[in-house]
Amino acid sequence: MQQRATRNKGVFGFYFILFFIFFPASVGAEPSLKVKQGGIAHLSLSPGPGIDALKGEFQGQIIPFFETEKGRYTTLVGIDLSQKKGTSPFVVTWTKDGITSRQEYKIEVGQAAFGVQELTLPKGKVDLDPPTLTRVRREQGLVKAAFGESFNQKLWEGEFIVPVEGKKQGTFGRRRILNGKPRNPHTGEDISAAEGTPIAATNGGKVVLVGDFFFNGRSVIIDHGLGLFSMYFHLLDVTVKEGMQVKKGEVIGRVGQSGRVTGPHLHWGMRLNGARIDPYALVMKKLD
Ligand SMILES: [Zn+2]
Repeated sequence: MQQRATRNKGVFGFYFILFFIFFPASVGAEPSLKVKQGGIAHLSLSPGPGIDALKGEFQGQIIPFFETEKGRYTTLVGIDLSQKKGTSPFVVTWTKDGITSRQEYKIEVGQAAFGVQELTLPKGKVDLDPPTLTRVRREQGLVKAAFGESFNQKLWEGEFIVPVEGKKQGTFGRRRILNGKPRNPHTGEDISAAEGTPIAATNGGKVVLVGDFFFNGRSVIIDHGLGLFSMYFHLLDVTVKEGMQVKKGEVIGRVGQSGRVTGPHLHWGMRLNGARIDPYALVMKKLD
């Protein structure tokens, strides 16, 4: 077994990218991929021609691979920002000539240094009245449904782009304390920009949800295929419709302050295999 490993230090934590060239007959020790909470484990394999049903499994989830060139396959495994630090197996299986082979890797999750954000909001916006609570639950259901199914092919290409020109606030993963009470962590990155600044799709995909929600305001969710989604919240207006295909860089709306916010900004979130990941983990990286 030949293997070559490179290690890159990104803006947000470590990336550990391993390029393995392996042959089904030779199974070595379990190689390890190091990644921080909210990051992505990136694995490329060249198992040779004539293989079938290549897939990964991580924490009970099937993780797809995509072919990047003939006989070469890549997968991206999202690590949730709340994933406990420690090591979990990443099991890769494939078939060749009717024989199923298996290779086990380890994903070693390290602690990320997320901050704490204390917020004070008027009581009326924190304790929800029954009709608002009903609305919020219905909206949560819509968002969950949008993530329920992803296109079975990769709709994105090359590097992901930051959707808006503005100031990154460094809020990804922050634990939030709202009026003194701990709340859910902040699952995206906030980019402050003037109201009306155009927002671009971070990469190609299909618009799967457009809505005007209590917390998130005017929102767009794009499915990039193979379990990867991008989210854009608090928009002034939305210029795309559900079901539309969008290209990387295509304008989908403008920066606003709709929903529960304290000023105009874009909340940009990314979700991969159900994990809430740092959207900047996808920027300026060669991933396919
Ligand atoms: Zn936000």
